[in-house]
Amino acid sequence: MTKTALVLGAGGFIGGHLVKRLKREGLWVRGVDLKFNEYAETEADDFVIGDLRDQAFVRGVIDQRFDEVYQLAADMGGAGYIFTGEHDADIMHNSATINLNVADASHKRNIRRVFYSSSACMYPEHNQLDPDNPNCAEDSAYPAAPDSEYGWEKLFSERLFLAYNRNHGMECRVARYHNIFGPEGTWDGGKEKAPAAVCRKIAMARSGDAIDIWGDGLQTRSFLYVDECLEGSLRLLRSGFEGPVNIGSEEMVTINQLVRLVADISGKTIEINHIDGPTGVRGRNSDNRLIAEKLGWAPSMTLKAGLEKTYGWIERQVLRNAA
Ligand code: NAD
Repeated sequence: MTKTALVLGAGGFIGGHLVKRLKREGLWVRGVDLKFNEYAETEADDFVIGDLRDQAFVRGVIDQRFDEVYQLAADMGGAGYIFTGEHDADIMHNSATINLNVADASHKRNIRRVFYSSSACMYPEHNQLDPDNPNCAEDSAYPAAPDSEYGWEKLFSERLFLAYNRNHGMECRVARYHNIFGPEGTWDGGKEKAPAAVCRKIAMARSGDAIDIWGDGLQTRSFLYVDECLEGSLRLLRSGFEGPVNIGSEEMVTINQLVRLVADISGKTIEINHIDGPTGVRGRNSDNRLIAEKLGWAPSMTLKAGLEKTYGWIERQVLRNAA
């Protein structure tokens, strides 16, 4: 029998890529989102537009015993959305409501495998003050002290899905994603993340121009290409390990180094103009020891290889908009 999958948040960046990947594997896929993906036609067999905060709607789309449910829908964005404090109530209310509805409806349909995408934003801020030596080992999560309400909501929902495992015999799997990037993601408008924002700024710049970068650019991060993220997510959902586990890259760079990498790819000479802006924690890097131990796998694609694909796609968007 054909395997079935439900992708919640299928109109988003990772969800859009996930639908394609599941279709390539031959699954029957239903996607659900508030909107269609803006950058690519969906390949889902069925795509339902609606609001997952609405419990009746969620019960309606979880109307069969899917083999795999991927819960990626969340009210989120880049640092400009999450860290200003202006959207805190929405972020917490919207995402928690979605997760409560999905966990409950999946349980009531006797669905076993539910994948939940948490975030590295749930790690305590005090372990991420040293840009050269951040600690994001999975067991460093408690005592909890995330630096954003987005991170607190993720922590709550991790615990929610794992509680359904404990009390209702579900087999939810929880991943903590670290900065996923790639083509067909938000690249302008305020919700874009650092790799997309840097690619856009450089694609729009002329050689010799300076681009604005929030903070001193010495804050560190690692970035994972979307195909690697999907590989890790599918392996986790189909494994016997519930998590939570990091899915991220261990190739840590400063934001200034990220700019240099993209500038090299573009072939342009780019100066940096440091300005005030939200920067998040000082340092963050994935720790892949647990995923390697439990799944015998860890991502290996270089940042440069992923940025080449992403820059090419964003440059085409910029040129198309300018035409
Ligand atoms: P995204 O914003 O592109 O996708 C999320 C989707 O959820 C959007 O298409 C949005 O319309 C949909 N959504 C939001 N509210 C909804 C609602 N009420 N009803 C129906 N749909 C709704 O984000 P993404 O980058 O694809 O991230 C997917 C998941 O991974 C999210 O849960 C996010 O928190 C998590 N995550 C992502 C990253 C990253 O770097 N991209 C890092 C850590 C965690």
